[in-house]
Amino acid sequence: MKKKKIVILGTGGTIAGTAASAFDHTGYTAAQVGIEQLVAVIPAFAGSACELLTEQVAQVDSKDMSFAVWARLAVRVNHFLAQADVQGLVITHGTDTLEETAWFLQALLDPGKPVVLTCAMRPATALAPDGPQNMLDAVALASHPGARGVLAVCAGVIHSARDVQKVHTYRLDAFSSGDAGPVGYVEEGRLRLLRNWPETHTGQASTAMKNIALQDDGHNWPRVEIVMNYAGAGAAVVQALVASGVQGLVVAGTGNGTLHHALEAALLQAQAAGVRVVRATRCLEGRVLPKAGNAIPDSQGLSPVKARVNLLLELIT
Ligand code: ASP
Repeated sequence: MKKKKIVILGTGGTIAGTAASAFDHTGYTAAQVGIEQLVAVIPAFAGSACELLTEQVAQVDSKDMSFAVWARLAVRVNHFLAQADVQGLVITHGTDTLEETAWFLQALLDPGKPVVLTCAMRPATALAPDGPQNMLDAVALASHPGARGVLAVCAGVIHSARDVQKVHTYRLDAFSSGDAGPVGYVEEGRLRLLRNWPETHTGQASTAMKNIALQDDGHNWPRVEIVMNYAGAGAAVVQALVASGVQGLVVAGTGNGTLHHALEAALLQAQAAGVRVVRATRCLEGRVLPKAGNAIPDSQGLSPVKARVNLLLELIT
């Protein structure tokens, strides 16, 4: 019988990073090693039940993630999802913006097959790098019958695109799914699922959006920025952004999306001038619980960076 294919797309990150010393976990350069080489050094892949294909889509430190890379990645993911013999995809990615790319792909493509993002907190040259095990776990997840949607796996924990968030600057288990909890774990190559595969219909994906975003080279995307509420917050930042032509604003409010009155007034003024405004929370857990008649719509449980992705996709048409 012909082996099913798993496609591994490389985008860079620490998983592809190199340092001068095997003991240096912070002073390294991300995005140096090609995806083919990263896969080749994992002996366990040699006897894989699936055929592994690799493609280098980008080679960036994900702190520098751009719309051009997102557009290219979406095109390639969409291409491989349409191949009948492709069982699933793995994407190697930096940890810094992994949650944004995961939600971008979920909201845009709403895939019925698994698209698994994975990463590393230590560079490939570390004495004990975490990237190879994360890659093995990602391939185990992408080959699992019935797995679907955009997922992330790091340190053996499976997260959904909607819930995943980087919460630690250094430790290997750097991600959390907050109060939703993880989807499950990968243990010795086997999955232990804690809940159903995430709901794949996000309501964001539409043919028009897909077509436009997929053809885009990233240069003409709308401008959507994030502002935050804090002690002493005022109107100046919002006013400057509106004056410079911003089309969308996500506000990371305090607590249940609360806003300093001066910031709120500026946001309402921006909204009245045609800027799309969405209210999220800067709290890591919980979600904004709206009241009927709230003037600024809430982010439906999305974090500020993911609410921004939704606004981008809505404005991209
Ligand atoms: N700055 C790196 C990146 O996001 C960090 C990492 O991958 O852990 O690409």
